[in-house]
Amino acid sequence: MLQITGLTHSYADGHKAIDGLDLTVPDGELLSIVGPSGCGKSTLLRCIAGLIAPTAGTLTLNGAPISGVPDDLAVVFQDYSRSLFPWLTVRDNVALPLRRRGMGRGERRAAAQEALESVGLPDAGRKYPWQLSGGMQQRVSIARALAYRPSLLLMDEPFGSVDAQTREDLEDLVLGVHRTGKMTILLVTHDIDESVYVGDRVVVLNRSPARVHADIPVGLPAS
Ligand code: ADP
Ligand code: ADP
Repeated sequence: MLQITGLTHSYADGHKAIDGLDLTVPDGELLSIVGPSGCGKSTLLRCIAGLIAPTAGTLTLNGAPISGVPDDLAVVFQDYSRSLFPWLTVRDNVALPLRRRGMGRGERRAAAQEALESVGLPDAGRKYPWQLSGGMQQRVSIARALAYRPSLLLMDEPFGSVDAQTREDLEDLVLGVHRTGKMTILLVTHDIDESVYVGDRVVVLNRSPARVHADIPVGLPAS
C-alpha cells in the first residue's frame, strides 16, 4: 500500500506545486490521477518515485518511508526522448533492467522480444532508438516497464505522443497487464475519458497547487 499524507512540494524558486495532498493506494489498484496541465501531477509522481524529496508530509510504501527510488518500481515518463539509451539497441534497452531480475541473457532477449511484440513493435529490436519515431520510442519505454513486471508502475502521460489507434491499443494493453499481473499502477493524465476508461478509481486534482479535489471509484475494486 502506498500512503501519502500532507504532501507538500515547493521548487527551489519557491513555486508550490503540491499543497497538503493526502492519498492512499491499495496494492493492485489501477489509479488514474487526472488534472489540468501544470497542476502538479508530474511533481507528485516524482515524489512517489523518490526522485525529489517532499518539502513537507510523508510518503510510505508498504509501511516504509520512501527515500530514494523504491525497489521494484518502473516509471514511464512523458518525455520519451530522454528515457532510452541511444547507444543500445531497442531490444537491449528493454532487456537491460531484466538483469536485476536475475534472468540470463537468452531469457532477457526472449522477454524483451515478447514485450516489443505486445506494444506492436515486433521488428524494432535491432534498431536504435533514434531510428524510431517519437511514438515508437514511447512504446519501447512502455515495453521496457511492462517486461520488468514491477510491483509499482508509474506512468506520466504515457500515451501523449502516440496516434489515436495506438493509444487505444496501449490503454487496453495496460488494462490487460494489470488484470493478469499483481501490479499497482498510477496513471497520470489530463484526459478525463482516458482516466475513467483505464482506472479502477479516478483522483481529480485541483488546479495548482495540487490537492485532491475528488476521489471517484469507477471500476471493479482491486482484488
Ligand atoms: P503537471 O504534471 O500537472 O503538468 P508539474 O508537476 O509538471 O505539473 O508542474 C506543476 C507546477 O510546478 C507548474 O506550475 C510547473 O511550471 C512548476 N514546476 C515544475 N517543475 C518545476 C521546477 N523544476 N522548478 C520550478 N517550477 C516547476
Ligand atoms: P509536464 O506538464 O508534463 O509536467 P512541463 O512542460 O510542465 O511538463 O515541464 C517539463 C520540464 O520542465 C519538467 O522537467 C519540469 O520540471 C520543468 N519545469 C516546468 N516548469 C518549470 C519552471 N517554472 N521552472 C523550472 N523548470 C520547470
